[in-house]
Amino acid sequence: MVARALSSGESYKCKRCNEQVYGAPGDHSLCADCEDTWRATQRRFEAAHLPRLHSGRSSWDTLLANPPYTPMDAYRAAVREFAASQHAFVAIIGRRGTGKTQIATTAISERIRKGRWGRYTTAINLMGDFINRPTEDNAWRAEWSSYPYLVIDELHQTLRTEAQRTQFESLMDERYMATRVTVLIANEDLKGFQELVGPSVCRRIDEAGAILECNWTPIR
Ligand SMILES: [Zn+2]
Repeated sequence: MVARALSSGESYKCKRCNEQVYGAPGDHSLCADCEDTWRATQRRFEAAHLPRLHSGRSSWDTLLANPPYTPMDAYRAAVREFAASQHAFVAIIGRRGTGKTQIATTAISERIRKGRWGRYTTAINLMGDFINRPTEDNAWRAEWSSYPYLVIDELHQTLRTEAQRTQFESLMDERYMATRVTVLIANEDLKGFQELVGPSVCRRIDEAGAILECNWTPIR
């Protein structure tokens, strides 16, 4: 087979590793190894359920090079702080439109490109999923505690009832015990956030987490 490809004279350079490959280029002009890597990355991106606007093109480098928010220095500092953080719990809080989701989804994209996994969800989707599961088994908690890196966005739109709060707290406890990273996002100031998530989650953040406040000028 190789001999025939050679004799046909067709060859191309892999777009990823620059190796010369004999034969006709496929849809992505990649060698077989790079094609496998590319497919695996696509599978992880699909499993991450990133919102369409943040579908994985961003990286820490692109955010730092062209901060989409002003003042740019404050934004860059926040991006650097988040990128370097090693906490089990990180809350990103602040006004609407300050790029909180962008930071968290970039963290997921960075992980995926390094061969790791991440999962994005909104709080409404997370709690809605609880209602759709049978109560007698622990399928909901088992699934949502299993993700090694979980971003829960728009927390301010939920946790309004005691039942939701209880489920949320037990999920946070489980993730904490399993030392899986959880990122919580809410359009709240510090006081509003503390009231929203309650004392138990606040204690976890005190013990093993950090709160990133986004206070710069919103773009929308
Ligand atoms: Zn290649």
